[in-house]
Amino acid sequence: MPESVAVIGAGLVGCLAAVALAKRNYDVTLFDYRHDPRLASTSDRNLRSINLAISARGITALQFVDRAMSERVLREIIPMRGRMIHDTLGHQEPQNYGLFGECINSIDRAVLNNSLLDELEAYPNIKLQFGHKLARIAFGARHQTCEFTTTSAAGPQSDARARFDFDFVVGCDGAYSTTRSQMQRVIRMDYAQEYIDCCYIELYIPPAKDVNPAYGGKFSISPNHLHIWPRHNYMLIALANADGSFTSTFFGPWSLVESLDSTSKIEAFFVENFPDAVDLIGLDEAVYAFENHPKGALMCVECKPYHVAGKAIILGDAAHSMVPFYGQGMNCGFEDVRVLMQILDQNHGNRARAFDEYTAQRHKDLVSIIELAKNNYKEMSHKVTSKWFLLRKKLDTILGRTLKDRWLPLYTMVSFRADIPYHKAIEVEKRQKRILVYLQAVVILATSVGGYGVFKALRKALRRLQ
Ligand SMILES: Cc1cc2nc3c(=O)[nH]c(=O)nc-3n(C[C@H](O)[C@H](O)[C@H](O)COP(=O)(O)OP(=O)(O)OC[C@H]3O[C@@H](n4cnc5c(N)ncnc54)[C@H](O)[C@@H]3O)c2cc1C
Repeated sequence: MPESVAVIGAGLVGCLAAVALAKRNYDVTLFDYRHDPRLASTSDRNLRSINLAISARGITALQFVDRAMSERVLREIIPMRGRMIHDTLGHQEPQNYGLFGECINSIDRAVLNNSLLDELEAYPNIKLQFGHKLARIAFGARHQTCEFTTTSAAGPQSDARARFDFDFVVGCDGAYSTTRSQMQRVIRMDYAQEYIDCCYIELYIPPAKDVNPAYGGKFSISPNHLHIWPRHNYMLIALANADGSFTSTFFGPWSLVESLDSTSKIEAFFVENFPDAVDLIGLDEAVYAFENHPKGALMCVECKPYHVAGKAIILGDAAHSMVPFYGQGMNCGFEDVRVLMQILDQNHGNRARAFDEYTAQRHKDLVSIIELAKNNYKEMSHKVTSKWFLLRKKLDTILGRTLKDRWLPLYTMVSFRADIPYHKAIEVEKRQKRILVYLQAVVILATSVGGYGVFKALRKALRRLQ
C-alpha cells in the first residue's frame, strides 16, 4: 500500500513537490485555500500578475522532476541577457548578466502556476483539494491528522471543517505558513522574521501601440533585458510578458510611499524620476496604480530545523521567505524539491533519515541566499550607477572569461550554476573579492600615475581580452 502525503499549498513549489512525490509512488493530496486559479476570470487573474525571473536552479529542478514537463511549462519564457539601466534623461545602458551570453528568463507567475496545475491532472495518484485551508495538524506516532476549514467556490465563506489522516505532510504554504506554525508547537524550531523597509507596487507597461520592428513588433523597449530605473534608495523595474506588455514594479521605503499622499505629488515624483517610464506607462495610469494597487510588504523568514522527525517538512517560502532582489525565491524553492528528492532517493525512502539529512545539508544554503538577496537591493538600486562598481564588474567579467571555471562572478554562480550550492558561491566570492579590490587599486594607480595614455592603453588591452 503506497504511503500517503498531504502537500499544503498549490503554489509554484507545492505543485512541483506534488509531481515529484507522485513519481515516487506516494499517494498525494494537494490542498490550497484558494479556489482553482484556472477557473478565475481573466480580469481577476490580472489584478496581480507578478512575472518572475526563472534561472538555472529553477530550470534544473523542473528538468530533474520531469524533462518533458519542464519544456511544456517553460514554453512562454522570454530570455533576458542583462540589465538595461535607465537614467533620468531617458538614456539606456545595457549590462550583461553572463560571461558568455547566459540568460535569466521572464515568465508570468499565473501562467507557470496554471501550467503546473494542468500537469498534475495526468497523475491518478494526485488529488487536488481547493477551498481547504489548513488550520491544525495533530502529529501522531502513526498518522498526521490535518484539519481544514473549507469553503465552496460558489457560496460565501462557510465554517465547515474536514479532517484527513496522512503518513506525512509537506508544507509549501508560503511565507505565513500554517504548517510551520503547527510544527513550532511540537519541536524547538529556531525562527526569525524580519520586515525590510521597502514597499512594492505593481505597474503595467502596455504592448507597443505602433509596430516596433526593433523589438519584434510588439514591445516598446527591449524584451530581452530586465529594465531598471535605479534611483539610489528606490527604483522601478520591468520584465517583459509574452503579449508585448511589461510588468513593472516600484520598490521604495514606506516613508517615501506614504509621503506621496496626493495625485499632484505622485505625478511630480514620476515625471522627475522616471520620465521615459511615464511615456511607456502613461502618467494617469502610473498615478492610478500608485494610488490603487496593493502596497506589498517584503519580509525574510529564517528557521531551523525544517522538519518534524519523518512526519512533516517545509519547503519554499514556508521555510525561507526572502526579498525578491536576486530573483531566487521560487528558484530556490524549486531547488528544495530537487535536493529533498535526491536525498529521499539516496535513503531509499527512509523519511526520518532523509529529513534529518535535508535540514543538515540545506540550512547553510538557505541562510546564504536570504543574505545575498538582501544585499542585492543596494546593487540594483544604487551600485549599478557607480563607476567603481562598474570597473570592478568589468574586471570580474574579464577574469571570468579568461580564466573560465577558475574565476566565477557571484551572479554567474547564483543564477547560472545550479551545481554550485549558495553557501559555496559566497565562499568563492569572498576569496575573489579580495583579489578584485587589489586589482582595482592597481588599475586606479596605473591610470592616475600614467595619465590618460596609460588609461587608454589599459582600456584597449581590457577590450581585447574580452
Ligand atoms: C515582488 C516579488 C517578485 C518576485 N520575483 C521573483 C523572481 O523573479 N524569481 C524568483 O525565483 N522568485 C521571485 N519572487 C519570490 C517568489 O514569488 C516566491 O519565492 C514563490 O512564490 C514561493 O513559492 P511557494 O510555492 O513556496 O509559496 P507561494 O507562492 O506563497 O504559495 C503558497 C500557496 O499556499 C497556499 N496556502 C497558504 N496558506 C495555506 C493554508 N493554511 N492552507 C492551504 N493553503 C495555503 C496559498 O494559497 C498559495 O497557493 C518574487 C516575490 C515577490 C513578492
